Amino acid sequence: MDNTYDIVIIGGGAVGCAIARELSKYRLKVAVAEKEPDVACGTSGRNSAVVHAGFNNKPDSLMAKFCVEGNLHFEEYCQELDVPYFKTGKLLVAFDKNDLETLQGLYRQGERNGCKGLFMLTAEELDRKAPYVKGIGAMFSSNTAIINPFLYTIALAENAHENGVEFLFNHELTGVNKEGDSYKLFFNNGLKETITARYVINSAGLYSDKVSQLFGINKYHIYPCRGQYLILDKRISDLIDIPVYPAPRKGIGGLGIHVTPTSDGTVILGPSAEYIDDCDDYESTRDVIDRLLDEASQLIPDIKRKYVIGQYTGIRSKQAPEAEGGFRDFTICAEEGTHLINLIGIESPGLTSSIPIARHVCSLVNQWIPLTETGTFIGKRKAPMRFRDLPDSEKERLINQCPEYGEVVCRCEGVTKKEIKDAIENPLGTVTIAGIKNRTRCMTGRCQGGVCLANLTEILINEYGYKPEDIVYRSEESKYYTGRVK
Ligand SMILES: Cc1cc2nc3c(=O)[nH]c(=O)nc-3n(C[C@H](O)[C@H](O)[C@H](O)COP(=O)(O)OP(=O)(O)OC[C@H]3O[C@@H](n4cnc5c(N)ncnc54)[C@H](O)[C@@H]3O)c2cc1C
Repeated sequence: MDNTYDIVIIGGGAVGCAIARELSKYRLKVAVAEKEPDVACGTSGRNSAVVHAGFNNKPDSLMAKFCVEGNLHFEEYCQELDVPYFKTGKLLVAFDKNDLETLQGLYRQGERNGCKGLFMLTAEELDRKAPYVKGIGAMFSSNTAIINPFLYTIALAENAHENGVEFLFNHELTGVNKEGDSYKLFFNNGLKETITARYVINSAGLYSDKVSQLFGINKYHIYPCRGQYLILDKRISDLIDIPVYPAPRKGIGGLGIHVTPTSDGTVILGPSAEYIDDCDDYESTRDVIDRLLDEASQLIPDIKRKYVIGQYTGIRSKQAPEAEGGFRDFTICAEEGTHLINLIGIESPGLTSSIPIARHVCSLVNQWIPLTETGTFIGKRKAPMRFRDLPDSEKERLINQCPEYGEVVCRCEGVTKKEIKDAIENPLGTVTIAGIKNRTRCMTGRCQGGVCLANLTEILINEYGYKPEDIVYRSEESKYYTGRVK
């Protein structure tokens, strides 16, 4: 195997995968090195999944520029990549006069940033749009949308891979040696292999400061800020069909606890904003769960504890410490005297901005290596079939063609055996339980895997020859089975 690449991207999140896809348009040998066994294992799989409009970002910042550009084109990106996109719009609700002033300020900021589709609503107009919210007015953003961040990131990665990018999973960058004009990269994957890269793009999210340090650049520091979420059962989704946010209040370091429908029919509450010491501390805590429920039910009184079916946590990669609070723009730069592009502090709206960020990174690469198109890039991708969304006649036809479409593995989400097998045989060649879950929604329903995990295990053992001890949730550190009990 030839281990020499023109460009190695560190990190397989939405941003790293978007960069990989953009670079696959050009005559370059590119690899993505990701420390986990799959893409979207970091912040890209742990967020609100909202395609933001860009009114919330400081005028003239990279955040505002890339967010507005991403928002205006996200539907096209999703069509090309064959991933679901729902233009729900979004409401920001005012509960008092100060909130109304804040919203008017945001409206003006949005106009200045070039956002489209912003409207101020009276209490009556708000009541007509969302009778379950009791505010004195609101701002409505018609261009806000929701997506599935796993499917989006997977689609970017698969399309990059189809166009020639290599994905190196379980490759955590731990050391770098400069050798002439290139870098020798060392990984802690026990393979004792090294990779040579002419140029490196650091898209390592929460660890981007540490990766930068490996190249001798110590000026960055990431302050992790945890955001906990609760997941509500689909029973409430008929009621809530649009993301609802409170008017932002100063000093909370986020957009406030919001209530957001997901692209899969559940509803999420969150996120909290808690500065923590450890970038891997995804713990969910009782006090925050209580607070999320309390604040969400102030926003929408119909929200009750009995609807909660799960939780997850994301961590923001803040460049400013808690004491400083406030705004810091994305840092995206080619470091002087090196062959390294650093992406630091890619917090919200990083998902929305991922493709514009990737295009900007390409323009930086172009200053080093004049980019020449391959002429063979195919940007259109076909996603695996989603059986449950099909009309009955089509379901019947498919079952006749392939009886595994008739075997339901996950009852809550209606996922069939054929879809599970498609996910196991995915183009990136990665197999974890979390990966199958993210690709199919198996285990995400009301039973949270209580029934379907056993079915998945059986398929992996009987049809793919797995030993139970080899089955992991997300990585080697999260094995499901350690041995027989009897
Ligand atoms: C609570 C929360 C809510 C959010 N909501 C939204 C939203 O609604 N809309 C929106 O637009 N944005 C949102 N964001 C922001 C968005 O999720 C991020 O900006 C985006 O996902 C960042 O992507 P990334 O690829 O830079 O980072 P990541 O997804 O974190 O990817 C970095 C990758 O690098 C890997 N890595 C780290 N170190 C190494 C190493 N040494 N070697 C190899 N690999 C390494 C990690 O495993 C990881 O997979 C939210 C963020 C949070 C935390």
